[in-house]
Amino acid sequence: MATPLSADKLLKALRDEGLHVVEHRSWRTNNRNHKGPWGPTHGVMIHHTVSSGTASSVELCYNGHSALPGPLCHGVIAKDGTVHLVGNGRANHAGLGDDDVLRAVVAEKALPPDNEANTDGNRHFYGFECINLGDGKDPWPAAQLLAIERAAAAVCRAHGWSERSVIGHLEWQPGKVDPRGFTMNAMRSRVAKRLGGAPDGPADPPPRPKCEPFPGSAFFAVGRRSAIVTAMGKRLVAEGCGRYTVGPGPAWSEADRKSYAAWQRKLGYTGGDADGIPGKSSWDRLKVPNV
Ligand SMILES: [Zn+2]
Repeated sequence: MATPLSADKLLKALRDEGLHVVEHRSWRTNNRNHKGPWGPTHGVMIHHTVSSGTASSVELCYNGHSALPGPLCHGVIAKDGTVHLVGNGRANHAGLGDDDVLRAVVAEKALPPDNEANTDGNRHFYGFECINLGDGKDPWPAAQLLAIERAAAAVCRAHGWSERSVIGHLEWQPGKVDPRGFTMNAMRSRVAKRLGGAPDGPADPPPRPKCEPFPGSAFFAVGRRSAIVTAMGKRLVAEGCGRYTVGPGPAWSEADRKSYAAWQRKLGYTGGDADGIPGKSSWDRLKVPNV
């Protein structure tokens, strides 16, 4: 039993497990919480979409359709292994399933056969829809299987669950066949092995630091004191243009002007264009980090 993960925690757990994650539209507020409860959460359910094409499958899972309003899951796992988040909260993916199965998941015991449809699964399971036609012929690329393993493990790790909290739709609801093309026992073995080790760490590189926008040439005048001036000076030093005996510091100085003039000359400017007063193009090329 567990309180559902917040959107931020779910996103972080997936990324920390090494997944490439795309946040689709307003996924953070896309849910069916107005139709019924969400949580306590007990497990992760794996599905196949019976569709092809990433963009259309992701839209379908975000919106649903006339007979089944979206979201149809929490994350869509594409063939390339990218996870597209489409829902946060109650989602229409699990339907009614077997209360004996739910009890086994809660207790993390071997699953009994699913022969009843008497229990609301949308309340208790995170759902991942994996893009596959479900015809037994559509292949499951290694990258997609790895992403399923990672996504399931990420949620289990965040909640302190074992691999026994991961089930397929076919193990929950009588008549369901998904996912088709690999066995849930094999997938649970992979998840167990993964949970025995450390997560792979974020796959997405941290966002690049933003550059300080050009504040205008008039900004650079005697009497100016700003962290931007210090940051600029550090960049000039890094570029081999520093002409400082002390500093660089926050107060605009003659040493700053001389250093900047050296940068302008390095860029090929001459004469009045290398007067040491920053202009927009030389500033943008200096890439002064945001202060
Ligand atoms: Zn399903």
